[in-house]
Amino acid sequence: MSRQQSMTPYLTEELETCNQCLGDGYITVSRPVSMSFSVASGYIDTTSLECRNCAGTGGVPKQENYNEC
Ligand SMILES: [Zn+2]
Repeated sequence: MSRQQSMTPYLTEELETCNQCLGDGYITVSRPVSMSFSVASGYIDTTSLECRNCAGTGGVPKQENYNEC
């Protein structure tokens, strides 16, 4: 008896690094939050949003160029 595992790592082969989040799967968005109306200087609120380009996976399927020919 011989055990064979048919695990084909095709996922990592078909995916390329997302250019939106650079493979992190999320995008850090910073926005200034003003404390009050009188105070102009508030603080920078950073929020990590799930990358919508790769759905948080950090990789996107390779797209073929149809511009050839
Ligand atoms: Zn992404």
